[in-house]
Amino acid sequence: MPPRRHDWRHHNSDPMIETKRLYYDDCYIHEFRATVIETADEGRRVYLDRTAFYPTSGGQPFDIGTLGGIAVREVIDEDDRIAHLLEQPIATGEAEARVDWARRFDHMQQHTGQHLLSAVLIELFNIPTVSFHMGAVTSTIDIETASLDPKKIERAEERCAEIVAEARPIVITYEDASADLGLRKESKRTGTLRIVSIDGLDRSACGGTHVRSTAEIGPVLIRKLEKIRGNVRIEFVCGLRAVRRAREDFRTLSEISRLVSVPFEETPALVAAQVDKAKALEKTAQKLAADLAQREGRELYGATAPDESGVRRAKQTGAIDDAMRARAQAFVAGPKAVFLAVCENPPSVLLAASADSGVHAGDRVKAAVTAAGGRGGGNQGLAQGSVKDAAALAALVAQLSQ
Ligand SMILES: [Zn+2]
Repeated sequence: MPPRRHDWRHHNSDPMIETKRLYYDDCYIHEFRATVIETADEGRRVYLDRTAFYPTSGGQPFDIGTLGGIAVREVIDEDDRIAHLLEQPIATGEAEARVDWARRFDHMQQHTGQHLLSAVLIELFNIPTVSFHMGAVTSTIDIETASLDPKKIERAEERCAEIVAEARPIVITYEDASADLGLRKESKRTGTLRIVSIDGLDRSACGGTHVRSTAEIGPVLIRKLEKIRGNVRIEFVCGLRAVRRAREDFRTLSEISRLVSVPFEETPALVAAQVDKAKALEKTAQKLAADLAQREGRELYGATAPDESGVRRAKQTGAIDDAMRARAQAFVAGPKAVFLAVCENPPSVLLAASADSGVHAGDRVKAAVTAAGGRGGGNQGLAQGSVKDAAALAALVAQLSQ
């Protein structure tokens, strides 16, 4: 994609010395000598006469490396100049510079892979790319279409592989913007444009770094498709990243396959069946738990002696869950019954009362939690409340136990 701000025309009206960008003409320079001509931020923000360090631009992240043996942490495009942010201060004068080549070459593979994929999507389906982002793990392009058939994705992936295998040259030229350049995406720039061409396939105005042959892109693997704001977002990986990703996917699938003890091809059907089975078992377990809780509630009612007013009162401690609710409701299904459940974490209560108990659960809980600084309520038969801490819970329980 074309860089957003920087223009590769020369404007010498500026009194500052423009940084010569070595990567414009040769993306493979990664060891070079340069002169520190200015520094800022106590020697940590450094300007060179020339640099091979790529600054964040056009969807491609900055390079890292060393300058005079000091780590370069970030590289920023300031239009005419490039700022190198160093870990430690550096003095002005000549210095040896080294770009982290593994990182840069990876960026070149992802970035050129993007040119290739975008060009193939035009060639096969006439779908334009509207944006590009290169991430630390995967890259994405947003393409101008509401949806994309998975078959088309497979076709695009294979077409990329064909062009990679053809080892087509990728060249950089400088051409006048006013000419009919036949670019994949029209450039709004004027003056001289830097054009990156994949032989016989694509011409794009771009300020980024690219490999010199499609062979160097390596594998292009398309991954997730996502619908975003009326476009489709395609996630992809190229080169060594694609190899590593595929190996990781293989490991993941091996692990799943080992766990379910079937070959790879059978894992989707087996996992789907296991998920269905787990859901059915969960339903059965819930039903059994509810039946058991109801039974416990009824048995507890039978085993609880009425007090002097003829009301049976039960108190249980534990989580206020479906089982506790079922137990409480089964207990108060009998005549003249009140059931109090107390949970310590989170501090909360449940009160259930039979219609003939003389207790209105909702009113009692509401009054008690309000006094204890909490919140809650319910109806005559069932109510719940919560308070903020153990002391408030103790006060609440004391109130409700009366
Ligand atoms: Zn590019």
